[in-house]
Parts: sequence; C-alpha cells; structure tokens
Amino acid sequence: MARIELLPRSYNSYKANLHSHTTCSDGRFTPEQAKEYYKKSGYSIIAYTDHNVLVDHSDLNDESFLALVGLEMDTDSFIYGRKHEFNQTCHLCAIARDPKHAALVSRAERYTGEAISRKIDELHRAGYIVNYNHPAWSCEGSDEFLDYGMFDGLEIYNYSCEVGNNNGESHSEYAMALRMLKHPIRCVAADDNHQSLGCEDDACGGWVVFKAPELSYSAIIKAYDEMRFYASTGPEIKESYIEDGRLIVECSPVRRVHVMSQMIDPIFCDFSPDNDLTRIEVDLKKVPSEARFLWVQLTDGQGKKAWMNPYYLHKE
Ligand SMILES: [Zn+2]
Ligand SMILES: [Zn+2]
Repeated sequence: MARIELLPRSYNSYKANLHSHTTCSDGRFTPEQAKEYYKKSGYSIIAYTDHNVLVDHSDLNDESFLALVGLEMDTDSFIYGRKHEFNQTCHLCAIARDPKHAALVSRAERYTGEAISRKIDELHRAGYIVNYNHPAWSCEGSDEFLDYGMFDGLEIYNYSCEVGNNNGESHSEYAMALRMLKHPIRCVAADDNHQSLGCEDDACGGWVVFKAPELSYSAIIKAYDEMRFYASTGPEIKESYIEDGRLIVECSPVRRVHVMSQMIDPIFCDFSPDNDLTRIEVDLKKVPSEARFLWVQLTDGQGKKAWMNPYYLHKE
C-alpha cells in the first residue's frame, strides 16, 4: 500500500496562532506589534480574530509572515437567552478562506443550538472556516456544543483561558465531540492573546504547526482542510505517516504517548520515565475494527502536550 503522509517531513513547518486580539478590539498590541512579537518568537502566521469586527491585515504580509483574516463571534447567554443562572457563551473563530471576498457576518441573535448551528452554516456559505473556541471557559458542555453542528475545529487548548482562569484545556470536550459528531473535527491550540488581562502574558503558550509547501494563504487553508497540522503547548512533531500497516510519528523527546479512538481506553500507549520517546509505531493490525479514528497525543516531561488531528480510518 502506498505511503499516506499525515505530516510530511518534506514540507515546511509554519507555526501559527489561530486566535488573537489586538487594538481592533480589546487587545493591547496593535496588529503590527503582534506581528513583530510573534515573528520574534518563531511564528509565521497569525489569524487576526478581533471580537465581532472584520479587518483585513493583508498589508502586514511579507515573505516570512502571513496574516489570516477573521473574527471572533460571540453569542452571550446573558443577552441572547439564558438557560442557567450562570452565564454561558458561545465563541466562534471564523477565518476567511479568501481575504478578498471576506464580508462581516453578524452574530447569532439567540443563544440556542439551532440559532448557532444556522449561523455556522451561514459562515460556511460566506467562505469561512469555523473553529469552536474554549468550551471549558465558556461554561459549555456537550448539551450545548453537540447542537452546534458542523464546526470545522475545536480549541482543545486556549492559553489565555489557562493563565487567566485556569481552564485553558478543553480535552474532555474535544474528545466528546470526536466521539459524538461524525464529521472531521480539527484539533486546535491557540493563544487568544489580549496582553491586557492584568495577569501573566497570554502569548506564545498554545499554537498549531502547519505542514505546507509554501507560506501562501491558499496553501495554509489547504493544509487546514487536509488536517495537515498539529496542535501543541510544547512537543514538536517532525513527521507522521502510515506505511506497511503502521502509523509512524517522529517527535521531540516525550514521556507519554496515547493513541485514542472513540473507546474509553487507548488503542496504544507508551511511557518512558526518562522522557526519551522520539518514535511511535502503531501496528494497525492491532487496532479494533470498530475504531473510527486514531488520535495521537504526546506529553513531555514538563507536562506540555501535543495533539495530532484525528486520522479517520473509514470514510465518514
Ligand atoms: Zn473567546
Ligand atoms: Zn478570543
């Protein structure tokens, strides 16, 4: 069988923050300052996703930097239909597939699964990718987000929520979305940086790395569509592919490896007290036939994590 490339070594790696705020809404950095800060920290891409406004920052693009055009849309249950005494809110990052044809879409006017699902459909028709943000911070569980339908990705990690509220990780929410929703759901880690929260700096703590042949808008959107990226708070994934009935992952040294599917226990796990695992090999013959996907997760010696996108074993 031909080799299936998941994260090809032959492609370039482009580090990206897919969720950010600037002075265009409630962030402290100007768009230019954000670019300089992130470029110095090794990033090639920022998705500018200010709250409920759409600003094209394509003028910031250069040969080593790409600005993705987007917005963060919020629908707050206090205003649009409260279900509980505490506030819940739904935040969606919409990233334009083509900045030249991006137009602002207004927020959902009711806090219901039906209204938000219709809004996601509208965003798709308007040419946006839609990531569902920080469910743990938003006080949303599967009762809410499973009704949101066809979002393309889910933030498993949000660094601003981590430093500001100690709830940046939405691991169980992401895992439940994978179990319950039948369409591909991309695994996203992002900063959601504001640099204005009055706490620890919320930049450069969660990111994705795209594998693409070039740093162009269309190549990065294609990499997103084809799930050719991984999310991380630390570990680096150098390469991943399937060949001769084995899933291979080459990575920076880690302590724990888990490969999950929809079942309660892992398909595969490995552990080294010396934090020196750098190659993972999963024999696909040992994967139960009912497994719908393989989802690789790495944890290093400091507890930092990396997550691959799920690899779907059967056509969904
Ligand atoms: Zn948000
Ligand atoms: Zn945000």
